[in-house]
Formats: sequence, structure tokens, C-alpha cells
Amino acid sequence: GSPDGPPSSVRRSCQWLIYWVPVLFIGSIVAWSYYAYVGQLCLMVCLLAYHLFFAMFVWSYWKTIFTSPMNPSKEYHLTYADKELLDRETRSEILQEVLRRAAKDLPVYTRTMSGAIRYCDRCQLVKPDRCHHCSVCDKCILKMDHHCPWVNNCVGFSNYKFFLLFLAYSLLYCLFIVATDLQYFIKFWTNGLPDTQAKFHIMFLFFAAAMFSVSLSSLFGYHCWLVTKNKSTLEAFRAPVFRHGTDKNGFSLGFDKNLRQVFGDEKKYWLLPVFSSLGDGCSFPTCLVNQDPEQASTPSGHSSSNKNENSHHFPAKPLRDSQSHLLTDSQSWTETSASIENNKSGMTNPALTVENET
Ligand SMILES: [Zn+2]
Ligand SMILES: [Zn+2]
Repeated sequence: GSPDGPPSSVRRSCQWLIYWVPVLFIGSIVAWSYYAYVGQLCLMVCLLAYHLFFAMFVWSYWKTIFTSPMNPSKEYHLTYADKELLDRETRSEILQEVLRRAAKDLPVYTRTMSGAIRYCDRCQLVKPDRCHHCSVCDKCILKMDHHCPWVNNCVGFSNYKFFLLFLAYSLLYCLFIVATDLQYFIKFWTNGLPDTQAKFHIMFLFFAAAMFSVSLSSLFGYHCWLVTKNKSTLEAFRAPVFRHGTDKNGFSLGFDKNLRQVFGDEKKYWLLPVFSSLGDGCSFPTCLVNQDPEQASTPSGHSSSNKNENSHHFPAKPLRDSQSHLLTDSQSWTETSASIENNKSGMTNPALTVENET
């Protein structure tokens, strides 16, 4: 550590503690709500349903928190020789040439705003499509959605389904409490309740559940829209750039396929927080007319290790003309996403433009 500050290990432990505060906050609210509902309100008929919502909510919350995000596989990391070359070299054309060579056999279709290969300085790798570097985790996260302080984890390819279910079940949990607590809440204001300690739990339980219902439903609604459009939160704010240009629906394959990409092919797993998303997180099918002829469609040595790839065919061919009618329907939906496309141009080296993550 430095002489005039706390040692870095102390600082790191403090940071570690601070990162867990939101999770502890949610955890204690949930524990209290359990006590208030089961211990104080105690509606015998509702207890079975309550425990079902409670268990599903806690299960999916747990999975969202403790599923570690997936990082790019070895093929995306630069070789030792390339890393050395990049360290020495300053001419941007040469740097781009090195990266282009490194990305040649990788299924990488997205580019930076300036058309360069997406490269992460920190991890020294070619970023797979939809992968972003998280500054909190200090790692590249596959199909990064956002870093969520409420779960102290990155929401990305490995746990996006869990995150959606967490939103859905927590919303159901809150709505269930609101619905069953309402009659007692009304009695509270009309002085129909006996003056006990339970009175206050019942009132605060209603307030907390109603408040969380409002914020959760807007967040859940937004993510439902993102799933049907096959966008991550980051992509909704900044549309992905392909070789031929920006395409905010570049990864959308139509309603049905978009849904299956997150929830999988087997409907029995859709409502359970078990991993069933399709693909490997590194490569994503696109429905672009101008597929990049210079790029490979699958990373070398990938297909053998992935069991999903046999059951679900990620199309290597353009899909524009074979899209389902559902996609055409959904295109009439209002587009609210504002693409923030002001690229940071003041970087020292245009060839190594690294996207600034939110
Ligand atoms: Zn990175
Ligand atoms: Zn993160």
C-alpha cells in the first residue's frame, strides 16, 4: 500500500463489503416480509401459494447472484507474440492488421464505430460479438447486459434468464402480497383492526410490496421488450455496429427465435432458474443480408464442445426472407430506444478504440 493511505487489501475489503450492501438490503427486506406475512398476517389459505412464490423468487435471485458470468474463450485471446507486437507497435494500421489477423477465424461480425476490430485493452483479447468489458468485474463479459448492484453481479449470457425470472417472481411475490394484504390494509385505515403489533407490519408490508411492484413491473416490462427484440440493455442504448454499418435489430431473428435464444427449446425449463439458453455466448446468429464473407461462421474447435449446437441450428445463411410473421408484427411496435452513437473520438489510437462501457 501507499504510505499516505490505507493498505490496498483494506481498501479492497471495504469495497467488497460495499458491493454486498444492496444484496444484504434486499435480503433483509425479503426476510422481514417473510416474518410479517407468515408470522403476523398468517392467512392460512394463502400460505401455500405464498411459499411457492417465495421459493421461486429466492431460487432465481440466488442463481442470478451466484452464477459467475462467462468470459471469452481462449480463441479470442491474443497469442503471446501478438501481445508483444501490440505493446511495441504504435502505428494504427499495423495494430489493426494484427487484430484483423487474430480475428480472421473468429465469428466476429461487430466492429467499433470507426470500423475497427473490437479489442479489449485490459483483457488483451478480440471481443466476441455482444461482449463488453465490465469495469466493476474488470473482465470481459459474454453478451453483457449490465452490471447489477442489486445482485452484485454482472448480468450477461450465463445468467440473463435467471435475472428475468428473478424479476418475474419478485413481481409476482409483491403483487401476491398486495392482493392478499389489501383487505387488512383497508381495515387498518377504518380502525377495524385490533391494536396489536401485527398492525404495523401489515401496513408496512403493503407499502413495501406496492412500491416494489411499481418499480419491478416497469423493469420487467422493459426486459420483456428487450428479449422480444433480442437486444441487451447496452445494445438498446448503443446499437451494435456491423461491418456494413449500424443495425439496431442486427441480432433479432423474430419473436419466437428471440425468445428461444434466452429460454431454450424445451418449454418445461422456461419457468425454472436452470440454464437453458441457446448457443455458446460467443457467437450469435444474425439476420443480415450482407454476411461478412471474410469471417468464419463458427470459431475453430467450438462446435464439438457445445451440446446445444446439434439440437439448434444457428443459421449461417441470411434470414431476412425467411422471417416469421411474428417479426413483421413486432416491427410495428414503437421504437423507444435512443441509440447513443456519439463515439468517443478523442482516443489516442483509433485502431485500439475501446468502447466505453456504462
Ligand atoms: Zn475486457
Ligand atoms: Zn460486472
